Amino acid sequence: MEPIVDFSDITAVVAFIISLSLVVFLRYVLVSGLFVVLFHVTFKDKFLSRKISTMLRPKGQSWQEIKWSALTSFIFALSGVGIVWMWQAGYSTIYIDPHQYSIFYLPFSLFIALFIHETYYYWLHRWMHRPKVYRLVHKIHHDSIVTSPWTAFSFDPLESILQAFVVPFIILFLPMHFSMVMLMLIIMTVSATINHLDIEIYPKGFEKHWLGKWLIGATHHSQHHAKFLVNYGLYFTFWDKWMNTESPDFEALFREKTQES
Ligand SMILES: [Zn+2]
Ligand SMILES: [Zn+2]
Repeated sequence: MEPIVDFSDITAVVAFIISLSLVVFLRYVLVSGLFVVLFHVTFKDKFLSRKISTMLRPKGQSWQEIKWSALTSFIFALSGVGIVWMWQAGYSTIYIDPHQYSIFYLPFSLFIALFIHETYYYWLHRWMHRPKVYRLVHKIHHDSIVTSPWTAFSFDPLESILQAFVVPFIILFLPMHFSMVMLMLIIMTVSATINHLDIEIYPKGFEKHWLGKWLIGATHHSQHHAKFLVNYGLYFTFWDKWMNTESPDFEALFREKTQES
C-alpha cells in the first residue's frame, strides 16, 4: 500500500491535519445543513404538526453549537490522523481485500464495532452525568435544552477527546475492512444528526416494531436533553432498556409525535 502521509515530514503532517479538519467540519455542515433545509425549512408545514419545539432555542444557540462542532471536528480529525498512522505503521487491523475474511464478515464487523461504540458511549455518558464530571466535561452539550441538527457535534473539547478514542481503540483488535470504517463514520454522523433533529422522522408504530424499538431517534434523544437522567444511548436502546434508564414516557411521547395531523 502506498503511504497516504509521510509522517517523518512535519509540513505534510500539519497539512494533513488541516485538510482532514476541514473535511470533517464540512461533512458536519453538509449533513446538518441538509437536515435543517429539509425538515426545518422545506417541509416546515408538514413537520410543524410533529411538535417542533425549536422556538424555545435561545437566539444565537446554533452559532454556539457550530463553534463547538468546529473544535470537535479538529479533535476528530486528529483521531483520523491517528488511525492513518496506525494503519501505515501496521498497528491496526484494517484490511483492504474484502475477501480476506468472508463477505458476511463485513456487516458483522460493522455491527460489532457499533455495539462496542454503544457500550463505551453508554457507560461514558452515565459517568459524564456525575455532577462533578458533568460540569467539567458534558455541560456544553446540554446547553442545548432543545436540540437541532447543529447540536450533533457540539461537545466540550474534553468530551470530544473521550469520544475520539473509540475508533482507534476498535481497530486495534477488531479486523475491519476500510469501507466498513468509513461506513461507521457516516453512520455516526447521520445518526448524531437524526438524534438531535427534534422532529420525529421514524414512522408511526416504530417504538413497538421488532427492529425499530432498538433504534434511537429524535424523540428518544430529545428526552435526554429535556430530562437529563434518562435515555443515555447513542445508536441503540438496549443498554437503556437493560439498565432501566429509558424514560417511562418515551413510548407515549413517540406516539404523540408521530400522530397524523
Ligand atoms: Zn445530545
Ligand atoms: Zn448527557
